[in-house]
Amino acid sequence: ARPRFETIDPSTGKPGRQYEGHTVAEAVEIARQARKAFESWRSMSFADRAGLMHEAARVLRRRKEEFAEIMTAEMGKLIADGRAEIEKCAFNCDYFADNAETFLSRRPVDFEGHKAFVTFNPIGTVLAIMPWNFPFWQVFRFAAPTLMAGNTAVLKHASNVPGSALAIESVFRDAGFPEHVFRTLLIPSASVQTLIEDPAIAAVTLTGSVEAGRRVASAAGAALKKSVLELGGSDAYLVLEDADVAAAAKVCATARMVNGGQSCIAGKRFIVVRSVREALERSLTSEMERYAMGDPRSTDTKLGPMESVKARDQIHDQVRRSLDKGARLLTGGQIPDRPGAWYPPTILTNVQPGMPAYDDEVFGPVAAIIEAEDEDDAIRIANGSAFGLGSGVLTRDLARGERIAADALEAGMSFVNGNVRSDPRMPFGGVKHSGYGRECSDLGIHEFVNIKSVVVF
Ligand code: NDP
Repeated sequence: ARPRFETIDPSTGKPGRQYEGHTVAEAVEIARQARKAFESWRSMSFADRAGLMHEAARVLRRRKEEFAEIMTAEMGKLIADGRAEIEKCAFNCDYFADNAETFLSRRPVDFEGHKAFVTFNPIGTVLAIMPWNFPFWQVFRFAAPTLMAGNTAVLKHASNVPGSALAIESVFRDAGFPEHVFRTLLIPSASVQTLIEDPAIAAVTLTGSVEAGRRVASAAGAALKKSVLELGGSDAYLVLEDADVAAAAKVCATARMVNGGQSCIAGKRFIVVRSVREALERSLTSEMERYAMGDPRSTDTKLGPMESVKARDQIHDQVRRSLDKGARLLTGGQIPDRPGAWYPPTILTNVQPGMPAYDDEVFGPVAAIIEAEDEDDAIRIANGSAFGLGSGVLTRDLARGERIAADALEAGMSFVNGNVRSDPRMPFGGVKHSGYGRECSDLGIHEFVNIKSVVVF
């Protein structure tokens, strides 16, 4: 039977649209068509592929309003954030259109006088399993480099964003890409393993939870196919005793509240040296309270609904259990009495090991303040996490901040006096349970290519 997908507007709780999905057999057939399309796509010149990718950027900009509205309707994103997300996707398409050929050009090797070089060939069709939190960006972050490298792609998007998934497919269609170079599969996660096992699929990339990462990596491992995983994070921001507390609180609030707190690289643990803890608590409270809940369709709103009532309830449960174990509530923590998936900006302090706010990822607008003795203690606490995605250091001493960011923190990204953000020009990814492999930049585009050594005697 065909799976069905129904969206729900998280700002009202009202049902949205229904979509009929693909059976497993249909999904496999589409993947095989994508694999077939690879044969001619791979031999197209970079210039021709770049022309199409620039056109995809133009389609994105032209249909920006429509796409932003779809995201708001499906997962509650603020309309202004949705517009910015589409712009970022377009920038990413242009960036890889302009740079892929350079990134993947042959690298000569000095090899005993013989002609020798490294070449980067595409590998086939890549399966992308993507989450709902940045419905367009997550997909374009993967798709622009992958397609520019000469691979084709099939997308299995999160079940709550089928409209976004189909809209993304239509971007490539409207831009004039050859048929089947990028296809969307509307399938439940239960169908993914069959696809991973099918010879049509060369490799798989997933952005999502640790649990989904384990499943997908296991299936890919069993099939001996490469995987890239971008999983959760519990990003630590170290507020040192020499920080400008007011400025630090702004950075922390911005880091925590990105996308309503529903971001893998949102700041989640604020590790504050004792001497500035109370001052930081006060400043962070006033910064977080500025994020008043409101209609995601209004450009004045700073905090929309969570993705779903279920996700909201899980966040609240993590807050309750942390309070039961001795955390102290500085603001928020109450579910408002209205339909929809609402949760207010919330701050917990005195957060200790054994509490969900300390040990686990909280995927919503909940800041956890953890006290540290000094710099060394703060680094120890930050690195004590199972995760290692982003991280931050807040200090007036830039050399000190740079040293901690570059050498001490176990994370894929470390920013000094600013919140972590993704950018096509910088590699993006994590260590430990945050996953492996990198997206974005010249390093990202090398994940799904065959790095081949060639010697001509
Ligand atoms: P999931 O990891 O469940 O979903 C992400 C994607 O993986 C979706 O497309 C989902 O499909 C798919 N998926 C889930 N389980 C499997 C599986 N066993 N095999 C193959 N594919 C699978 O994230 P949730 O939306 O449930 O969010 C749960 C938590 O994940 C969040 O609280 C957060 O901690 C983390 N997360 C991290 C994100 C990030 O950006 N790194 C983004 C989203 C979530 P389907 O929707 O059909 O289940």
